[in-house]
Amino acid sequence: MQEQATILYIEDNLDNQRLVQRILSAHNYHVLLAENGPAGLALARETMPVLILVDIGIPGLNGYETTTRLRSLAHLKDVPIVAVTADTRKGVRERTLVIGCSGFIEKPIDPRKLPLQIKEFINGKHEKVTQSEENTILREYSERLVERLEMQVRELSAANAELQESDRLKSNFLATLSHELRTPLTSVLGYLELFERGTIGPLNEMQSQAIAVISRNSRALAHILNNLLYLQEVRSSSVKYVPINLSELLKQTMRDFEARAYEAKITMYADIPTVVNFVGDPYALNQAYHNLIENAIKFNREGGQVQVSLSEDANRVILRVEDTGIGIDEYNLEKIFLPFYQVDASLTRAYNGAGLGLPIVRYIAEVFGGQVIVRSEVDRGSVFVLYLPRSTQ
Ligand code: ADP
Repeated sequence: MQEQATILYIEDNLDNQRLVQRILSAHNYHVLLAENGPAGLALARETMPVLILVDIGIPGLNGYETTTRLRSLAHLKDVPIVAVTADTRKGVRERTLVIGCSGFIEKPIDPRKLPLQIKEFINGKHEKVTQSEENTILREYSERLVERLEMQVRELSAANAELQESDRLKSNFLATLSHELRTPLTSVLGYLELFERGTIGPLNEMQSQAIAVISRNSRALAHILNNLLYLQEVRSSSVKYVPINLSELLKQTMRDFEARAYEAKITMYADIPTVVNFVGDPYALNQAYHNLIENAIKFNREGGQVQVSLSEDANRVILRVEDTGIGIDEYNLEKIFLPFYQVDASLTRAYNGAGLGLPIVRYIAEVFGGQVIVRSEVDRGSVFVLYLPRSTQ
């Protein structure tokens, strides 16, 4: 069977799309449809059509601009582009020819004529304009392009300024909220400690258990608030540079998680040689280590493993945290570093947290000129690697 020739039709009107597709399919063409310029360009880059039909009135990148871009694609150099439009005003036809169309098909499309019109263009029909017409139209076209560009840049700048402003307001709001909530929570935690120590009097068994639950949850709340505040601080890069013993810091973080790993029936392995001469912010690095190890335990399963290793080369220190947990699919891998993002964001989710751990790790990495990368396989586990350059400060 003879292979079907492909025609690309860039058109936003569904009725026209269907009509052209029906007519041309009946004449053994394979019709690819795109509803706007960028989508049409993407299809054109991947395929080799024998002809491209472009509706001039498409929104966004209009038909003229789309044609200009199509003409710059080397593999389409000899492919006819035909403008389709109901706009019969003076100058429209000429402009389409000057920017690289072979010709013009008027709307409404005549189903009886279309196959023949298409065939003529495929066979080399090329309408022409005079040289002087061409020069005038080109100048006019480029002026219009620059005008549109200027307008778009202005709109984008305004939208960007608005976004920055709302981002600033959001950050302020979060910082104020966390401050306001932390103050009363501090006194709640203080009194809870007095209860736990028995300073305010003896508690019976049931009261002790209730206090333990309140205490655990209040600490979890404080942890979230601290993370929220810290995220704002790291963003404003108020970090310290002091000499730190990274190996000791990591060993301490591992010890902090021993009980939690034991409870979750997860085995932790560590390979922590002594890393020398590291200058950085102990609090920030502790946060980064803490968040990565916590996730490796949290998103793991009973009987799972967490392998933590520290290494160094001449320029940087590398922390690797590998787990045998639930893993992360490809779609979510790109998103998990966004503030508040969680793969399972449902109210019934099995894991607690506020989606702040990884953004903090990433901000810390960036503040110190490093990076954090992740590889993961669903149901097999994940590896997070944090690279921190040796500071020059
Ligand atoms: P959270 O407080 O929810 O843990 P994070 O920012 O630390 O927030 O992580 C964002 C999301 O990334 C988590 O909710 C989880 O869906 C996913 N994630 C992070 N670490 C792991 C991991 N080791 N294994 C599987 N999923 C992970």
